[in-house]
Amino acid sequence: MAAPRLHVCIYLQHPFDDCYCMNITGATIPRLLDYCVGDFGSCPIFRKRHRHEKEPAAE
Ligand code: SF4
Repeated sequence: MAAPRLHVCIYLQHPFDDCYCMNITGATIPRLLDYCVGDFGSCPIFRKRHRHEKEPAAE
């Protein structure tokens, strides 16, 4: 039986200050597993940051 594949967040190597992996506690570990090495597309931090990166800079 094959091991499940991890879907590692594209920001995990260079996380933001508010990323769950920057402040690992009992409360953030489930989110780290769910989002950072799981469904990062559902992470609220990823969604907020990724949306901002795709938006053109305000002039
Ligand atoms: S999944 Fe979210 S919290 Fe984890 S590294 Fe990516 S943006 Fe940060």
